[in-house]
Amino acid sequence: MPTEATEKPVLAAYPPSAEFAAQANGGAELYSEADSDRDAFWAKQAARLHWHEPFNQVLDWSEAPVAKWFVGGKLNVAYNCVDRHVEAGYGDQVAIHWVGEPGDTRTLTYSDLLSLVSKTANYLSELGLQAGDRVAIYMPMIPEAIASMLACARLGLTHSVVFAGFSSSALRSRIDDAEAKLVITTDGQFRRGKPAPLKAAVDEAIGGDTPAPSVEHVLVVRRTGEDTPWQAGRDLWWHETVEKASSEHTAEAFDSEHPLFLLYTSGTTGKPKGILHTSGGYLTQASYTHHYVFDHKPGEDVYWCTADIGWVTGHSYIVYGPLSNRTTQVVYEGTPNSPNEHRHFEIIENHGVTIYYTAPTLIRTFMKWGREIPDAHNLSSLRLLGTVGEPINPEAWRWYHSVLGGGRCPIVDTWWQTETGAIMISPLPGVTECKPGSAMAPLPGISMQIVDDEAHPVARGATEANGYLVIDQPWPAMLRGIWGDMQRFKDTYWSRFAEQGYYFAGDGAKFDEDGAVWVLGRVDDVMNISGHRISTAEVESALVGHDAVAESAVIGATDATTGQAIVAFVILRQGVVNTGDELVADLRATVSRDIGPIAKPRDIYIVPELPKTRSGKIMRRLLRDVAEGRQLGDTSTLVDPGVVESLRGGK
Ligand code: ATP
Ligand code: MG
Repeated sequence: MPTEATEKPVLAAYPPSAEFAAQANGGAELYSEADSDRDAFWAKQAARLHWHEPFNQVLDWSEAPVAKWFVGGKLNVAYNCVDRHVEAGYGDQVAIHWVGEPGDTRTLTYSDLLSLVSKTANYLSELGLQAGDRVAIYMPMIPEAIASMLACARLGLTHSVVFAGFSSSALRSRIDDAEAKLVITTDGQFRRGKPAPLKAAVDEAIGGDTPAPSVEHVLVVRRTGEDTPWQAGRDLWWHETVEKASSEHTAEAFDSEHPLFLLYTSGTTGKPKGILHTSGGYLTQASYTHHYVFDHKPGEDVYWCTADIGWVTGHSYIVYGPLSNRTTQVVYEGTPNSPNEHRHFEIIENHGVTIYYTAPTLIRTFMKWGREIPDAHNLSSLRLLGTVGEPINPEAWRWYHSVLGGGRCPIVDTWWQTETGAIMISPLPGVTECKPGSAMAPLPGISMQIVDDEAHPVARGATEANGYLVIDQPWPAMLRGIWGDMQRFKDTYWSRFAEQGYYFAGDGAKFDEDGAVWVLGRVDDVMNISGHRISTAEVESALVGHDAVAESAVIGATDATTGQAIVAFVILRQGVVNTGDELVADLRATVSRDIGPIAKPRDIYIVPELPKTRSGKIMRRLLRDVAEGRQLGDTSTLVDPGVVESLRGGK
């Protein structure tokens, strides 16, 4: 493959400019340093943090697959993210430029953040919460949400943030699973310019005929000011409690392995799993990766990660990584098209954002809206761009590079998972010659392989998508388990290559001739067409490479003759006329030319929307259910169940 006459564009690589490389936080020596002594390398990264008591062993892997990192060390995660910056004289530096969806703004310095976190911690203690207790946080993107996470960290409480767009039943199952004693929420939230109730969903989740047995209190921040139902005794207003608490609080140190948070995966491949992360190793790697991958300069950069705190990117790259590095960041509450599609670009322009980290789904949405929108703004403050969440199509990468980045910004395509806790595979922006669509190489300190079914390394440049991404050495931010289900933890990640002791990431991948890593999506998403393994990501990229297409999702549907057949769902770019069969024929020809006739989709459906999780990932398993006429699997994390029903109807 490809077998037809092809004219594939030569894949240009993008090296960093000499100017960027000269000022970069990380150079090539990081790789050699980490290779020569991995433990010493991680000990050095851990030393970027403040330890109340030093650790005496870097890694204890004797109870694999449950690691202990920085054994014997004690630290306070919140102290590292807030207090130490204030103590070092940076109390007046802005920590958060907050932008509310309706246009209201707040600015919090590190001193302001310290005061808010301390008050929250004092009040949570007053409620009787003790280290080890679990707290559910179900809030929109407001400063109190971040302060709540940090207050939990400060007290050794384990937080479980549940995305505020999830339904009450998704919230209930997460509260029950974690046996949370407290739920922190808001009266309501703004959604596309309109207030919508949120506390009501908490009431529905934990009240009614079968109240959640673990929940003692619900702490409510006033955000929209709408009337809200109230249960005296259980429900507490934040402004009547937290805001009246003392702003003096001394952070106590906890063991390096003290649980920090639980977070449920986004559910693209099955029922969400409650991933457990602990303190010292997690913070070390979140902080290290944020510093080097984003080339962040404290006090100079204005950083913006567009994720929601309801998923892991928000945890590691809005809260723990950036704050531990004394970042000044933008936190935006709302959607990118409220009040109109200019919103993100206005924010970048107004705040002089220098580092911007988002997901491929949003970049493709920007492409669909058209380049006139970003072009209407001065984006010259940007100096580095990042992506996470899915493979980025080369077409979208190049668009991001030229339209947002003005051709001058390195792009870091960061591969990682809720389970890995922090970035694992990514360019180092001052070193790596990037290839659009490739996450390139494991970071210094991280070791991974791509292997076949028998655990043999897959050769470089192999054309078939038959490799599994595995991580063959423990890493500091690795998950320590699935909450309440250690068997599932072992089965899901450690049984596939048990003999070798590899962590099975569940993603398909390959190395190209130059050794760059190409992540091809979930193993479940790699298709088998007449014995050829073809990745959904590659077919999607070919489709998105066609001028008419803004976004696509490809699945392998059961087929009597070929085993699986390729079925594609595509969304057209704004303004493109759907010529029906003619367009479909053209799209099939494009795939055939780019990949080969074997990859030609059997069916192509032009649709208005794709089913996505709240974190913006396409739920291919639901499309498979639709294509094969099955009942839908777990849809609790789907944005809009109506989308799937409409596909079913229109198909
Ligand atoms: P679930 O495990 O419940 O199915 P999920 O895997 O979507 O949910 P996350 O942990 O948020 O939940 O996502 C991690 C996955 O996202 C990775 O396994 C990978 O498939 C994909 N991913 C993340 N970043 C990248 C990237 N830069 N390139 C390619 N794929 C990526
Ligand atoms: Mg996953």
